Amino acid sequence: MRFYTALCQQQEELLVSLDGGKTLYLMKDLGHDYQDMNQLIASITKQEMDDLAIKAIFAVPAEEYRLLAPIPRPRQDVICLGINYDEHAVEADRFSPDAFGGQRPYTIYFSKRVSYSPGPEGEVPAYEGLVDSLDYEAELAVILGRDALNVSREEALDYVFGYTIVNDISARNLQTRHKQWYLGKSLDGFTPTGPCIVTPDELGDCHNLAISCSVNDEKRQDSNTRYMIQTVEGAISELSQGMTLQAGTIIATGTPAGVGMGMTPPCFLKAGDKVTCRIEKIGSLTNYIV
Ligand code: MG
Repeated sequence: MRFYTALCQQQEELLVSLDGGKTLYLMKDLGHDYQDMNQLIASITKQEMDDLAIKAIFAVPAEEYRLLAPIPRPRQDVICLGINYDEHAVEADRFSPDAFGGQRPYTIYFSKRVSYSPGPEGEVPAYEGLVDSLDYEAELAVILGRDALNVSREEALDYVFGYTIVNDISARNLQTRHKQWYLGKSLDGFTPTGPCIVTPDELGDCHNLAISCSVNDEKRQDSNTRYMIQTVEGAISELSQGMTLQAGTIIATGTPAGVGMGMTPPCFLKAGDKVTCRIEKIGSLTNYIV
């Protein structure tokens, strides 16, 4: 099952697909008039999801909607894992040993402010004059379906509502200059997500998905989620020890090698570039630098 947020006749609407994204139905036509995706995630039951197929009759033609980020306005900052793929650790250390080097016996967690997430085909500002090293990071994002507190690794995946793609856009000059990564990751438009939320039953093993990123159709990142250092269940469990992760929480699980700062010489994004992140079984997320 795939859940979408889209603009239909100037209204923000929730849609669902029961056939891998080929046909979309308005949730309100299926008897579910949620205010937004945050409310859907916190409210919908397993039984209600199972029953959606019974009422799915009148599909919405593709020309009648434009996809937005599945959660355009996250309730809280997005939680991110840093340096969670070995080869990315090597390239980051090469770019700035001071910022990214050293031993890391424990997972790096940080967050990014997301007032509004650009969706598929959405724009990312280049912030020329402020940012001289704009970079992309294709990542698998996990969305929690219920509040998680002190969850064991064994139970952790039971808390997952679904998965989407996030491009963890980063201003390397701000990220390294300020030591804390928060500012360099949190400018408006820096967290595109989409195209949909895929439920775990449809996605299968979240640690066996091809993940890639292309800039102007040139492939830069090409890896698999099996190479994550900290796993999805490990991150949920560790983060939830003493901290309640609310339903709707988005966790970005880190990016593989191939980002712009890892190239020799580094090669950053500029206005006019097209960036496409792809994850197997979820789809693709294309954004434009403006
Ligand atoms: Mg990242």
